Amino acid sequence: MTSWTAWADSQPELPPAARGVLERELGPLTPSAAVAVADAHVPESRLQRGVVERFKQVVDRDALLLDAESRARHAGGQAYVDIARRRRGDATAAPDAVLRPRDAAAVSRILQVCTEDGIAVVPWGGGTSVVGGLDAERGDFAAVVALDLSRMDALVSVDPVSRLATFQPGIRTPAAEAALAPHGFTLGHVPQSFERASLGGYVVTRSAGQSSTGVGRIDDLVAGVRMATPTGELVLAPVAGSAAGPDLRRLVLGSEGVLGVVTEVTLRVRPLPTERHYEGWVVPSWEAGLTLMRSLIQDGPHPDIARLSDPDETAVSMLMSSAGRFTRRALSLYLRARGAGDGCLLITGYEGNARDVRHRRDGVRKRLRSAGAVSLGQRAGRSWEHSRFAAPALRDTLFDAGVLAETLETAATWTSLHAVYAAVRDALRASLGRAVVGCHVSHLYPTGASLYFTVLAAADAADNETQWLRAKTAANDAISAAGGTITHHHAVGTAHRGHVQADLGGEVGVRALRALKHELDPVGIMNPGKLLPVPR
Ligand SMILES: Cc1cc2nc3c(=O)[nH]c(=O)nc-3n(C[C@H](O)[C@H](O)[C@H](O)COP(=O)(O)OP(=O)(O)OC[C@H]3O[C@@H](n4cnc5c(N)ncnc54)[C@H](O)[C@@H]3O)c2cc1C
Repeated sequence: MTSWTAWADSQPELPPAARGVLERELGPLTPSAAVAVADAHVPESRLQRGVVERFKQVVDRDALLLDAESRARHAGGQAYVDIARRRRGDATAAPDAVLRPRDAAAVSRILQVCTEDGIAVVPWGGGTSVVGGLDAERGDFAAVVALDLSRMDALVSVDPVSRLATFQPGIRTPAAEAALAPHGFTLGHVPQSFERASLGGYVVTRSAGQSSTGVGRIDDLVAGVRMATPTGELVLAPVAGSAAGPDLRRLVLGSEGVLGVVTEVTLRVRPLPTERHYEGWVVPSWEAGLTLMRSLIQDGPHPDIARLSDPDETAVSMLMSSAGRFTRRALSLYLRARGAGDGCLLITGYEGNARDVRHRRDGVRKRLRSAGAVSLGQRAGRSWEHSRFAAPALRDTLFDAGVLAETLETAATWTSLHAVYAAVRDALRASLGRAVVGCHVSHLYPTGASLYFTVLAAADAADNETQWLRAKTAANDAISAAGGTITHHHAVGTAHRGHVQADLGGEVGVRALRALKHELDPVGIMNPGKLLPVPR
C-alpha cells in the first residue's frame, strides 16, 4: 500500500546534476526523511462507546474504522503543510473514526446519527484537497469523523442519446474513464490530480482540468446531482435547460461538504476523441504570450489545452529536464539564438475528430507564427503529455532533498491579469527570500485567465510549515489587493477562508450562504471551518 505521505508507490530519482541546479538557484538544502505511518503520533479516538454502537447499527461492520493507521491516513489532504506535518509523524489532525458507506441510504443514516449525537463530519473523496478542505476540524463538537466515499465508486447509468452519465461520488477519474470507454464516451476532465481525485470531489470544489479551455470546467459538465443533507435529500435531476428559478445545482457546485454529501452526479460526456495532438512553442515574451492567448480565446480558433509558462517557469522546466547541462545564462542565449527572446514555453493541445483538430491547429499555428513564436514541434508536446502527471511524485523527491515545493492559483480579467501576476510574484519573493517563483496561464476564458504559480525554495529545516504559511498569506493578501479571485480551482477550504468574503459577494452574500447552511444543516455538523469566512 502507498506510503501515507507519498503520492505514488515509486518516486523519481533526482539526478545529481539537477540537485546541483537546485542548490545553485536556492542555496544549501537540508535533506529530510518521512516518518512511517506505524510510528506516527495518533491521539486516542474521542468517539464515545455509545456513538460507536450507533454507527455499528447503521453501517456494515467493515464500514467503521477506528484503528490508528486508518485514522492517520485521513489526517489532512495534499497541501504542502499537510504533507510536512505527516512527514514529521504528526497525525494529531486525524479524525476520531473513518466511515466508509456503500450507498446513499447509509450516508443519510450516518448524517442522522451525527446530527443527533453532535459529531462533526468531513466528507472524503479522493483526499487530494490542497486547501485544508479535509482538515478534521471538530468545531464545537466532541468528535469528528471522516466520511470516506471511496466504496461508492460505480458508474450508475449511461444515456448515450442525451450524452449523460451518472456516477456515484467516490469513483476516481481513471475508473470513470475506463467505465465510459466501452460506451464510446469520455469526460475529458483531466486535472493534474486525475489519478486520485474523485468525481464528487471535483463537483464540490469546482475543479478545472488541463483541457478546460476546450472541454470547460466541471461546472460546465454537471447536469444533475443528489446530495444527502442532515435535513433530507436534495435531488436535482438532469435537465436540458430550465428557467425554473435559480439553478440550485450551482449551490452544490463549490459547496465543499458544508451543506451535505454529494451521493450521485450526472455529467455531460462526449465521444472519445479520435485524434489528440500536442505541440510546443516558444513565444518571444510573457506579455506577447498573454496577448496571443487573449486573441486566440476571444477570436478563435483556439486549442483545447493552452499552457503558457512565464520565463522563470520555462527556465526551470528546461534546466531540470536538461539535468543541469544548461545554466540560466546559457539557456537564455540558446533561446535568443533560436529567435525566441526571453522565451516563454507554450504547449498547445487539440482533442477531437481529425478534421476539427486539423482546422484549429492550422489556424492557431498561423497566428502563433505571425506573432513571432518559434515551433518546438510535437516532441515538446509529447514530452509534456508524458510528464503531465509527474509533478506530485517529483514533489516527494524534492521534499526528501530539502526543497519546499508548492503551488497556488488565482484568476483575473485580462485587464488586471498582469498586475495580479506581478503582485503575487513580488509577495512570494519578499516572503521567501531566495526562491524560484514560476507561473503559467492554463485556463483561458474570453474575459480573462487563471494564473498558476509554482514555488521552489530551500525548506527551513527548523519550521517549514510556518515558512510556507507566511508566504501563502502574503500571496493571498496580494491577490485580494490586486483584484484576483482567491481561488480559480482549488476551492476555499481553510486556506482561503480568511480572504473569501469578497468572492462570495461581501457581507450579504455570506449571510445568504450561512442561512442556507443553517437550513440544511441546523446543528452545523457538516465540515466545520471550511468555505465560510472567518475573521483574519
Ligand atoms: C498534485 C495535485 C494536483 C492537483 N491538480 C488540480 C487541477 O489540475 N485542477 C483542479 O481543479 N484541482 C487540482 N488539485 C486539487 C484537487 O485535486 C481538487 O480540489 C479535487 O477536486 C479534489 O477532489 P477529491 O476527490 O480529492 O476531494 P477531497 O480532497 O477528498 O475533498 C475536497 C473537498 O470536498 C469535500 N468533499 C469531497 N467529496 C465530497 C462529496 N461527495 N460530497 C460533499 N463534499 C465532498 C471534502 O470534504 C473537501 O472539503 C490538485 C491537487 C493535487 C494534490
